[in-house]
Amino acid sequence: MPNVPNVAVFDTAFHQTMSETHFLFPVPHEDYTEHHLRKYGFHGTSHYYVSKEAIKLLGNKKNSKVIVCHLGNGSSVCAVKDGKSLNTTMGLTPLGGLMMGTRSGDIDAGVIPYLMDRKGMDTHQIIDYLNKKSGILGVSGISSDLREVIKASKDGDIRSKITIEMLCNRIKKYLCSYAGLMGGVDAICFTAGIGENSDLIREKVCNGLEFMGIELDADKNKIREK
Ligand code: AMP
Repeated sequence: MPNVPNVAVFDTAFHQTMSETHFLFPVPHEDYTEHHLRKYGFHGTSHYYVSKEAIKLLGNKKNSKVIVCHLGNGSSVCAVKDGKSLNTTMGLTPLGGLMMGTRSGDIDAGVIPYLMDRKGMDTHQIIDYLNKKSGILGVSGISSDLREVIKASKDGDIRSKITIEMLCNRIKKYLCSYAGLMGGVDAICFTAGIGENSDLIREKVCNGLEFMGIELDADKNKIREK
């Protein structure tokens, strides 16, 4: 298609406003300067659009503090301060941060050599394990699709219950940490497959955050439920 213009939209671009204090990993500095080892973040187009719309709903508030929870098969949370990405949970690769459909998200890095040693895994196998066999699928042993795990949990499956608790705890951990980094939060946005459609996950994530002034309207939360 020689006459069709090509447009490249980088999912990392929105996060280029992160400062070194937020994008550096706590490892020897020369690996950043020589090998570009740093947090890049992903889901930028989603975080940008959703936070922009939220800021409009806030009446174009100055110095707004918005947290976007993009919860789909891949998931990330982003702290958006005054319309700019301050920090986000994905890192050099999309494996960082939250527990996802099949990705582990953040884990103790010591797990990697431990598993390689114990199970004789090579680099490709461990990456496949953390990217494709972990997360909701790995913990539940049922599916990467949260709808199936929620159904199993309602039917009494203990591992599915644990999966849902782990998922929500991890979202809550970043939500509170980003509220702390920004010195408060004006709006929490939920988007992507789980964020948009699961009233259960929204409720569990917001539950217990009354100390931060967060009160979920149970009726409104039910409006978008599939
Ligand atoms: P996405 O990657 O944004 O398309 O999101 C896909 C994921 O959303 C699926 O894997 C499902 O786990 C999840 N999802 C969609 N609808 C629901 C729902 N009603 N409850 C829980 N999870 C849902």
